[in-house]
Amino acid sequence: MSEGEFETARTAVESVSKGLFVGGSWRDAEAGGTFAVEDPATGKTLCSVADATPADGMAALAAAVAAQASWAATAPRERGEILRRAHALLLARREEFAALMTAEMGKPIAESLGEVAYAAEFFRWFAEEAVRIGGDHAVAPDGGSRFLVMRQPVGPSLLVTPWNFPMAMGTRKIGPAVAAGCTMVLKPAEQTPLSALALADVLREAGLPDGVLNVVPTSAPGPLVEPLLRDGRIRKLSFTGSTEVGRLLLGQCAGQVLRVSLELGGNAPFIVFADADLDAAVEGAMLAKMRNIGEACTAANRFYAEAPIAEEFTRRLAERMGGLTVGPGLDPANQVGPLIDEAGRQKVAALVDDAVSRGATIRTGGSAPAGPGYFYPPTVLSGVPADARMRHEEIFGPVAPVTAFDTEEQALAWANDTEYGLVAYVYTRDLDRALRVSEALETGMVGLNRGVVSNPAAPFGGVKHSGLGREGGKVGIEEFLETKYVALG
Ligand code: NAD
Repeated sequence: MSEGEFETARTAVESVSKGLFVGGSWRDAEAGGTFAVEDPATGKTLCSVADATPADGMAALAAAVAAQASWAATAPRERGEILRRAHALLLARREEFAALMTAEMGKPIAESLGEVAYAAEFFRWFAEEAVRIGGDHAVAPDGGSRFLVMRQPVGPSLLVTPWNFPMAMGTRKIGPAVAAGCTMVLKPAEQTPLSALALADVLREAGLPDGVLNVVPTSAPGPLVEPLLRDGRIRKLSFTGSTEVGRLLLGQCAGQVLRVSLELGGNAPFIVFADADLDAAVEGAMLAKMRNIGEACTAANRFYAEAPIAEEFTRRLAERMGGLTVGPGLDPANQVGPLIDEAGRQKVAALVDDAVSRGATIRTGGSAPAGPGYFYPPTVLSGVPADARMRHEEIFGPVAPVTAFDTEEQALAWANDTEYGLVAYVYTRDLDRALRVSEALETGMVGLNRGVVSNPAAPFGGVKHSGLGREGGKVGIEEFLETKYVALG
């Protein structure tokens, strides 16, 4: 086992700032409190960070409000240049940030390196968008007046991010907010504050003015977030996390009629038709299932394989899944890291037990190893019946339930039988069917003969209980802009 990555992680954890980032400087929490950040590969404490109180949240909001007017007046090119410099800085320190991310979140180091690059790319994409905020000018249909339509920043925005992509979920919001001219309060997930604190450092070094970004990790998110949403000076919430919390926050936004973007949970179906390229389908299934140890909103949650190829697909998937090496993500030899915490592992284990008790067969994996860390082995189940909980709930772990289907109609009905609607994957070589099924799927995104859809240049988001709005792509910046129409006499 190479010691290199472990040493890089130790240094990265030691050197990252562990205070609150408010008004451009690092400070302790108002009450002096801290909370522990844990290494999910060992269950041991990595370090402690300042624990923001509701008063600290208010101080961060005040800093964001104070900076808003001058930030909105900053030239778009300058806002873009800050993002461009931040993109370069992230890539220059890619190894360090990847090790930091694996230390606090657990994913294999190769995936953390990938996430740093993915996260940085949001900065580059929105650096390019900052100078393309358009407007409109038109003559009224009756010729009697003219319309001037301008785009303006929404204003101070609250960004709330999850632990599963600790850096990319931050840059996917910070990038467009900076480009649009909004100031921000970022509240990262309590499991992974270090990547967010590292981002604050990078943006400061890139020249972001004081107060534009404020970062307040806290062990008690509810009491910090609710007063901010009810304050009236925050004008927008951008949230990524569970549907349950998203729904709660949507209610809290109603009082001040806030602009809202929600990227919530998923329950992605992965449909393999008998005419599919089976090699490609198995490869795509590995990506769609195992990226981020299965802890992704886009993770394939239910596999539906057409009857003639169902057994071969299941056998090949089980072979590939069973061959993956599980262990601490900092060891480059490992392909599957630990789950985020014991609660996450227990949820996965309970879903597997439930499916088995209803008649499913374990083809590989299926029971958690003894020893430290929150590991769960890659698991494939076949014959998973419709009433199994895992066909309806987000698994958020390395478990692939496969069920055989007989007709396209049946596959589509099963795929859409969920309150979620983030993404679906479809493997077929029949172009007519590919388009027909893509149109009929009730999701915001479809991976057609492809196991990964995420791309900073594409609009990411879901329908139904998977969320509101889109991040990335040309529309990503729209979420942080208001439209003002001036009628010209
Ligand atoms: P979570 O909802 O528990 O937490 C998300 C964020 O909300 C964290 O910052 C947390 O501190 C905060 N939070 C929790 N309770 C809160 C409260 N009462 N008030 C205010 N804030 C509160 O979700 P998680 O476990 O961190 O992340 C996993 C979930 O995120 C999954 O459901 C996953 O599908 C979803 N997710 C969605 C996307 C997407 O783009 N659609 C991307 C990544 C993750």
